[in-house]
Amino acid sequence: MKAWPVPDAYSRKIPSCPDAAFGSVRSYKKGAGKHAGIDIYAPVGSKVLAIESGRVVHVSEFTGAPWSPQWRRTWYVMIEHKDGRVSAYGELRKPRLRNGREIKLGQIVGYTAKVIFGPMDIDSSMLHFELHRKGSRLSQDWIGKRPERFIDPTRYLRSIG
Ligand SMILES: [Zn+2]
Repeated sequence: MKAWPVPDAYSRKIPSCPDAAFGSVRSYKKGAGKHAGIDIYAPVGSKVLAIESGRVVHVSEFTGAPWSPQWRRTWYVMIEHKDGRVSAYGELRKPRLRNGREIKLGQIVGYTAKVIFGPMDIDSSMLHFELHRKGSRLSQDWIGKRPERFIDPTRYLRSIG
């Protein structure tokens, strides 16, 4: 049993644009990196669900795109599952979860935050979703400094959708 992580997503087609895809190249002043997850676009405040049951192993602020003043600070949650893999949920509003908390399949992890403001304010909201290999409890690393730790979530999400 698995749960689709954003039931109110605009589309379950993955990715909805090239920039949202796993492995797309992101570059900024300090260098280039690859996108470590998939961005699933949804209305601001959409609920985000745990894809499988597990345990919360990390909650932190998500620095998103620190080079961009338009990028709001959001939150990031990691859940370790029974087989050791970790799912990660970024671009959330501040969640009401703590480390060590058991979480069930389909339980609410949080809600999508408004991501961009200022001149680009378009009520932009998304779930940044990652899958990590067994034993990988990275803190946020969305540009993928250690890409071998990441699993492309495309096939996984298609198997649910
Ligand atoms: Zn992303």
